[in-house]
Amino acid sequence: MQTEVAVVGGGLAGALAATMLGRAGHDVVIVDPHEVYPPDFRCEKLEQGHMAVLRRCGVADAILRNATHTGELWIARFGRIVDKVPFDQFGLAYERLVNTVRAEIPASVRVCRTFVDGVTPGADGAQVRLADGRTITARLVVLASGPNWTLRQALGLTRDLVSPCHSITVGFDLEPAGGGDFAFPGLQYNPERSSEGMAYLSLFRIGRTMRANLFLYQPLKSPWLKSFREDPDAALAVLMPRLSRVIGPSRVVGPVKVRPTDLHEMHDPVRPGVVLVGDAFATPCPATGTGSLKVFTDVERLCNTHIPRWLSTPGMGTEKIGAYYADPAKTACDAMSVARAYELRALTLGTGPVWEARRYMRFGLRLLRWGLRSLVPSLPARRTEREADDAPKSASPVR
Ligand SMILES: Cc1cc2nc3c(=O)[nH]c(=O)nc-3n(C[C@H](O)[C@H](O)[C@H](O)COP(=O)(O)OP(=O)(O)OC[C@H]3O[C@@H](n4cnc5c(N)ncnc54)[C@H](O)[C@@H]3O)c2cc1C
Repeated sequence: MQTEVAVVGGGLAGALAATMLGRAGHDVVIVDPHEVYPPDFRCEKLEQGHMAVLRRCGVADAILRNATHTGELWIARFGRIVDKVPFDQFGLAYERLVNTVRAEIPASVRVCRTFVDGVTPGADGAQVRLADGRTITARLVVLASGPNWTLRQALGLTRDLVSPCHSITVGFDLEPAGGGDFAFPGLQYNPERSSEGMAYLSLFRIGRTMRANLFLYQPLKSPWLKSFREDPDAALAVLMPRLSRVIGPSRVVGPVKVRPTDLHEMHDPVRPGVVLVGDAFATPCPATGTGSLKVFTDVERLCNTHIPRWLSTPGMGTEKIGAYYADPAKTACDAMSVARAYELRALTLGTGPVWEARRYMRFGLRLLRWGLRSLVPSLPARRTEREADDAPKSASPVR
């Protein structure tokens, strides 16, 4: 099979790339074994910074129709509300997000429902070997196979494990113990103590469900995680004794998901005819809320700017591929994601008077800003989408 672009992987990055390239009239084949993207505990909430990039990808409206929007975020600490900020959040299960983007892929894009066994780079045609025995020859292969390392390893790529079990993400549903609904639209609860390694708890809405993502810096076999698996309500009360003062009595319902994340640093990814996007390029720390922003930024830059230029001249050498990895918007987004991963961890785990002071200062500043805005309602609290667009940091207002 011959094509201009072969997209390997039909997750968030691959589905978005196939949609954009197909709409632009390119000849595209996408390869993924799953007819429908299966349930998966990954990103469950987008924010205003994500939407700004998605608009440039042309799929924001489809996602908005499938997500639950809330326009205000309450921020709490030590059992009290410290701020209420206008902030757009869009909750939806990861599989719904991916399947929504997949539904936008134009009919002109050919689909192969199988695994890719290997990719061979080449400036004059890269090869994709499929598990069903077929081979695709493409001018460009977009590798969007997520955190799975096998294909990248087969390309001769190498990486260092720079932070094993950097963070742990816990996902569960919460409901008011006495029935009814919670009073807040969305809430971020910051830790009461630094000793338990809690980054923050994010509560957001998906339909009528209050979804919880709890971010921790603990070993995977920590006593707290063990107790959480045995009795989640009791364990949450130990971690956040004053949470119920803010949200009222509540209980965990349904299954709980626990997902550790390692951070790696990949060495030179440049290969002729092959380009890496999303988690295939770098897996982010979920606590930063930047993984999907990285996916959208990678794909937006690649499909709106680089691929149209590359395809307009012969060859797909390393000078073309290298221009994407050096793209200023991509490198800024990647650098912000890595910096936030370490900043947030240090802010959570840092011990001694300086770190304590930094944590209390943030608490105090939030209270002060909220107080001032109550007195002077015209004081700005919301970043516009334009500002969010210019400053990738605005993906999340955490801490
Ligand atoms: C627990 C958790 C919480 C997160 N929370 C957030 C958040 O709040 N905000 C945020 O912005 N980000 C968050 N993230 C990060 C975000 O979810 C990821 O960055 C994003 O899902 C990566 O998308 P992707 O398309 O690169 O990978 P994936 O969605 O994993 O897609 C990879 C695709 O490749 C396919 N594939 C793999 N191997 C092959 C093969 N050999 N042949 C063919 N196909 C193959 C798979 O079937 C899959 O469809 C979170 C991540 C986790 C784990």
